[in-house]
Amino acid sequence: VDPLEQRLERTRSSLGSLFGLIGSAERIDDDLIEEIETTLLTADVGVAATTRIVERLRDGVRQGVISEPSQVLPAVQAELYDLIEPCEDFLAVDPDKKPFVILMVGVNGVGKTTTIGKLARRYLDEGKNVMLAAGDTFRAAAVEQLQAWGERNDVPVVAQASGADTAAVIYDALHSAKSRGVDVLIADTAGRLHTQANLMAELSKIIRVMKKIDPEAPHETMLVVDAGTGQNALSQARQFNEAAQLTGITVTKLDGTARGGVLFAIAEEMKIPIRFIGVGETAADLRPFDAGTFVHAILP
Ligand code: GDP
Repeated sequence: VDPLEQRLERTRSSLGSLFGLIGSAERIDDDLIEEIETTLLTADVGVAATTRIVERLRDGVRQGVISEPSQVLPAVQAELYDLIEPCEDFLAVDPDKKPFVILMVGVNGVGKTTTIGKLARRYLDEGKNVMLAAGDTFRAAAVEQLQAWGERNDVPVVAQASGADTAAVIYDALHSAKSRGVDVLIADTAGRLHTQANLMAELSKIIRVMKKIDPEAPHETMLVVDAGTGQNALSQARQFNEAAQLTGITVTKLDGTARGGVLFAIAEEMKIPIRFIGVGETAADLRPFDAGTFVHAILP
């Protein structure tokens, strides 16, 4: 078994029940299609994406393109792939942007700090020099976590006392990264849940001060969501996208109890590139998102 398939065990078992369901069907009828619909919803695929898949399936049946039960599973697989393929868009670090600035956003506990470490590791391994900005000043532990990571990996971390202004920390970091010729600056932000107005004010302030130093920064605004939170991940994506135009999403903890269908829900509604998926705790477990591999891993 492919290690990715093992990691995605839970998603595989929730969507994988389509095999038994469709395999044992003697004919294509409303019951079968309704059961497919329920399975997709239970796997966190979401109402909009599920409706799209099921409607297309019904169209196929009506038009006679799908006439045998054996044609149903490949059709569902193809629909899932079509849904998510447009979101396959690898994050390319432009070497002409120095530093290339990645602003990381997301609520507490989703794996934002861990993802920053994994991303930094990836860029270090590519021979780039990296700097981190400890912008989650609301949580002392987040600052310490980044600093400890920076010490272990010999990566500079710009931080201020806890409670400091996130925008000020990131401004300092960008200033320092520019003068030191850093390739990639990854900036953490506070992840507490706030009202939409607060979130918007905070993120727009961060972006505004960055632009004083580099009008094109941030080059990537990446939201981190935890697949285990199901449809909450989708509503976080909605909220953060309104507050700061997202250019990428990383979905973590797909190895856990998550039913990874939420990737399809995000793809259907947000149409934002899914940059990486997190399938474990080590650096190698942050994988570039590949639509074909993902769909194949969960529905082989
Ligand atoms: P933050 O509050 O968003 O910064 O979250 P942290 O980075 O501190 O991560 C919270 C927990 O999630 C930690 O125990 C991480 O090891 C864990 N974690 C992060 N990403 C993944 C993942 O892809 N898979 C698993 N299994 N755990 C993860």
